[in-house]
Amino acid sequence: MATPSLKIDRARYVITVDGGRRIIRDGAILIEGGRIREVGKAADLAGRAADRVIDARHMVVTPGFVNGHMHISYGHVVRGIFPDDAGSPLVHVFNMQTAMTEDEEYHSTLLGLIELLKSGTVCFVDPGSTKYPDACLQAYTDAGIRVILGECVTDREAPFTLPRHPTAEAVKRSAAFIDKWHGRLDGRIRAWAMPFSPETCSAELLQGLKRVVDERGTMLTLHHGSGPQALADYRKRHDTTPTEYLDTIGVLGRNVCLAHSLGVEAAEIACMARTGATVAMCPVTAAKGARGVGAYGRMPELLAAGVPVALGCDSPNNSNHLDIVRAMNMAAIQYKDARQDMRLVPAEAALEMGTRTGATALGVGDDLGSIEVGKKADLVLFDTQRPEWQALFNPLNNLVYNADGRSVHTVIVDGRVVVDAYRQSFADEGTLFEKVQEIGERLLARTGMSFPRSRWPVV
Ligand SMILES: [Zn+2]
Repeated sequence: MATPSLKIDRARYVITVDGGRRIIRDGAILIEGGRIREVGKAADLAGRAADRVIDARHMVVTPGFVNGHMHISYGHVVRGIFPDDAGSPLVHVFNMQTAMTEDEEYHSTLLGLIELLKSGTVCFVDPGSTKYPDACLQAYTDAGIRVILGECVTDREAPFTLPRHPTAEAVKRSAAFIDKWHGRLDGRIRAWAMPFSPETCSAELLQGLKRVVDERGTMLTLHHGSGPQALADYRKRHDTTPTEYLDTIGVLGRNVCLAHSLGVEAAEIACMARTGATVAMCPVTAAKGARGVGAYGRMPELLAAGVPVALGCDSPNNSNHLDIVRAMNMAAIQYKDARQDMRLVPAEAALEMGTRTGATALGVGDDLGSIEVGKKADLVLFDTQRPEWQALFNPLNNLVYNADGRSVHTVIVDGRVVVDAYRQSFADEGTLFEKVQEIGERLLARTGMSFPRSRWPVV
């Protein structure tokens, strides 16, 4: 069945993030066959009819957001359990992930998708967390979101419970995963190779996976070893930096997206720029995890070098939220403070990372990331009839500095309205929230994990 045509009419502002970065006042967008057919002033599109017309007089329209590093699955059902003084939760997190059943993962995934869509994310990378994609397929189908999936593989000892296979088998599994999943749901599912990290994977495995994605025209992402400890380790073991190590073994390129990338040196940034490698940074995880953005964050330098940077929210127990607007806010403010320079990572750059530049980083820039004729109709409509949007002179500053994902009113993916006036219609939220709480309690009991409900007495 063909997607009905849609017209966004009389928008207060359309922030196109197009080549000229036009912001159209009193704008309109005509969508046909899931793609943007026309963009312009409402007056110029006055004669165009559509099956449905959305009155956007009080809306600011942006491209749909992309999230470049978003573990969904286990985290949602136990979100918020780790007190601030518990240290790194990773060991617990991976134990719980290992213990999850298909049915539990389906429900926690559904919750994650609802939260992502309702705050404007239309496409996200799940870096290998999902163990049961077959069980989650129904959730992806119903939600209408774009998902980039992969099987997490390693072939070396790791400090947490990670799936480990002999090298050749890990390569074979990843290739089979991509062949099975890439392009499904009318292209809304993409599949990448997802080795956990260069520390948990041999050079042979990484090289094998790079060949797999080169041959299939898809991508590879991995957790990028960085920071002073990683630098010291790599110097000792490989006589080079973590990024240059990947380059030396031939595992960098336009189809490689490095996750986190805090603490990279100038030579590493040059190496990324030269090879075309991209980055997904998680600014809220970095801040909440006390990773030292001031000392080690290099987002301004990466952007200046032309390295495509996407933003990520990491996981429900790292940043804790799944809201890319809040991630844009953190990206735009944390470097200003850390280096005492207000000019760093302006609001415009933050929005670019959430849209156009982020889409490039994830290899979906031809279809997503801007409101331009011919691109996929993936759009977010923000409701400006809310206190945080007042007064409205500079819509971009208001978006990045005043608002968050809660003012997302309507979300469109592939020309289909998936969030309509704050509501999604693919899941009953009340029932799901109860179910997720239940799963969380069960999972904690099953894994024998227990944390105080608060550091204050709960009476
Ligand atoms: Zn991760």
